Amino acid sequence: MATAPPRLVLLGTAGGPLPSPARSGIASAVVVGGRTYVVDCGSGVARQLRRARLLAGLHRVCITHLHSDHTCDYFNLFLLGWPILQWAPPVVVHGPGPAGGAGAFPPDAAGHPVPLHHGANPTPGLADLTELQFEAHAYDINIRMRESGRHDLRPLIVPREIVVPAGLGAGGPDRVAPAMEPVLVEEDDDVRITATLVRHAPVFPAFAFRFDTDGGSVVFSGDTAPCANLVRLAQGAGTLVHEVYDDSPDPGGAGEPGSWEARRRHHHLVTSHTPLSAVGGIAADAGVGRLVLTHFIPGDDVLPDAHWATGVAGFDGEVVAGADLMELDL
Ligand SMILES: [Zn+2]
Repeated sequence: MATAPPRLVLLGTAGGPLPSPARSGIASAVVVGGRTYVVDCGSGVARQLRRARLLAGLHRVCITHLHSDHTCDYFNLFLLGWPILQWAPPVVVHGPGPAGGAGAFPPDAAGHPVPLHHGANPTPGLADLTELQFEAHAYDINIRMRESGRHDLRPLIVPREIVVPAGLGAGGPDRVAPAMEPVLVEEDDDVRITATLVRHAPVFPAFAFRFDTDGGSVVFSGDTAPCANLVRLAQGAGTLVHEVYDDSPDPGGAGEPGSWEARRRHHHLVTSHTPLSAVGGIAADAGVGRLVLTHFIPGDDVLPDAHWATGVAGFDGEVVAGADLMELDL
């Protein structure tokens, strides 16, 4: 039986937690041999998978990091997709382990004390996050198994925390993503998945993922500032799916110029995300064939697709401004 060539499907392309009127939350899929590998679970991922006819084939989920815009619909994917997923094999979910407790947070700024939530475990990793979701939704899970005859949800979700090199931890850019060889996440007959740490300080760990198949390769930057590890992971890949923020002179949504909020937002962008003016150089350094922009900041519709595509400089390959439900062969 002939199998369809592997393809990339952009499920959602908005960056940031605030729901966008124009784009679904950040999520992507690689489809290989009829099986669906999802990268990140932003708002609406279960619905977008249904719209793309990809939910029944869900095989693996990879979470780049534990910011809410990448995780908010991770458990919901299973909780809501349960009627279909109960008939499918268990889904292994690869993602970050715990960041390291309260010491993993930046110190509070003078005059800005910040409360600590869930002090006994303030930095749950993927395994705890999953278990706590089972606990939070116990009523629904218990009653649906009894009233609707659902198969048990628990064995359908198999979280696996990615092991990172020893001695690393939260902190500045040199602590969260020192130079490293990519690590093998998983390999089967169809796909080899590798990962590396990227610079999304102070978040730790934050991963980029690479998928190599017989029919092509694709790399997902996750959230990162320009990062040598990402260039190394993406070396020679067919497609690089990269996050981007608009750094043209008058970006939307920055708040009152000069305000504390605007300065914090600017600091967050420049230290942990990649400006449009730099992303072409990253694609060129990695020698990829095609650059696909996603995780747009701003993620609403104030900037047209042409703004993003024409803003890429220093890259001779194909440039694609991503859109929800866009499909591309690898
Ligand atoms: Zn993030």
